[in-house]
Amino acid sequence: MGAGHPVLVQSMITEETRNVDACVEQIIGLHRVGCELVRVTTPSLGEAEAMAEIRAKVTERYGYVPLTADVHHQGTDIAVEAAKHVDEVRVNPGLFVFKRHGSRSEQVVSGDDTKRSQATALPKVDFRGSGGDQEVERLRQELAYGEREWQEELQAVEDSFVPVIEACKKHGRAMRVGVNHGSLSERMLVTYGDTPEGMVQSALEYLRLCEKHGYTNLNISLKASRVPIMVAANRLMVQRMDEVGMAYPLHLGVTEAGDGEYARIKSTAGIATLLMEGIGDTIRVSLSEDPIHEIPVCYDILQALGLRKTKVEYIACPSCGRTKFNLPIVLHQVREATKHLVGLDIAVMGCIVNGPGEMADADYGYVGAAGGKITLYRKHTVVKNGIPQERGVEELVALLKADGAWQDPPEDASTKTDRVMLPMA
Ligand code: SF4
Repeated sequence: MGAGHPVLVQSMITEETRNVDACVEQIIGLHRVGCELVRVTTPSLGEAEAMAEIRAKVTERYGYVPLTADVHHQGTDIAVEAAKHVDEVRVNPGLFVFKRHGSRSEQVVSGDDTKRSQATALPKVDFRGSGGDQEVERLRQELAYGEREWQEELQAVEDSFVPVIEACKKHGRAMRVGVNHGSLSERMLVTYGDTPEGMVQSALEYLRLCEKHGYTNLNISLKASRVPIMVAANRLMVQRMDEVGMAYPLHLGVTEAGDGEYARIKSTAGIATLLMEGIGDTIRVSLSEDPIHEIPVCYDILQALGLRKTKVEYIACPSCGRTKFNLPIVLHQVREATKHLVGLDIAVMGCIVNGPGEMADADYGYVGAAGGKITLYRKHTVVKNGIPQERGVEELVALLKADGAWQDPPEDASTKTDRVMLPMA
């Protein structure tokens, strides 16, 4: 991950972890369609122990699949156990040493009679209120951590976290420091507010602890359900890492994106924006659907950005009054005939006037001409014209065969386990 490797695609299974056989099936299913790192939740020690059996059965039935264990609340023992069985342990700094939100306000109130009048109001405070909320700001100042308190909490984090660092070192495992906007610790919320800065500081604190204990096999995620926050947090993370000489891979995702078309657009907006800036080394598109649906979206994002190529790139005009054929139907026919030819760019353009110029650098062009005819292009060169429309697809396939660009489609694409990945220029 990172260091010039292709952007890695990952997802997370939804089966209950103690249901080992169901987990094994879902992990294999995800890997078959191209998921390169599969996350499994380990909410307690029992699930972390179950990872041993899951790992063994996946390997026995199918082969090696990289696995991540997802650790959240009070995670020391869970993460130490999981590190024996998986390739990566994910910890959430907001929950790893968990203090219930409101406990800080209760503590302050109980130790100071002058603030007792706030006793009923403070525990209800949600520091995730907007930064412009004066009441939230006032209470944050009221509850600000002193240097000693801050160091005590940090020491408690370190004491809980070091065994995990040592376990990852011992077993040669990676770790994701996975910060979520919705689960920042109370200390971070009181100090930085509900902000990208709070997310970044939350991650940096754990990264510094890892480095202090000689461990750097790390990557970071800063996820939010709101795209602008997720984008801002990741940009700020890169800036802050640059300032202190860190360069850890970033895992991108818009969390709780929902389902359907809007979830895909939302995920793409966040992930693609950052990838185009050169930020991001691995991605997960989180959908409230079967996770198997996440993988094609990841690949489409990467293909659209020119980062990985997993299928034919079709360039097709939207059609207009000049179009010489029913473009949606012809595009469908061309796609059905050629969609297994990973690596090619094929253009379907409605007219000879603008089509050849606008199909850019496609490898092959299928262009409508006057009189119900088709003209075929190889790059910008006309290869054959005057082809009757009904023979257009057939002639395109013949051209591909003549050029050695054709291969027969697999008999059953559903049995294909290895996606073809081509580097892109
Ligand atoms: Fe219209 Fe021709 Fe442009 Fe297609 S390529 S949108 S048919 S002008």
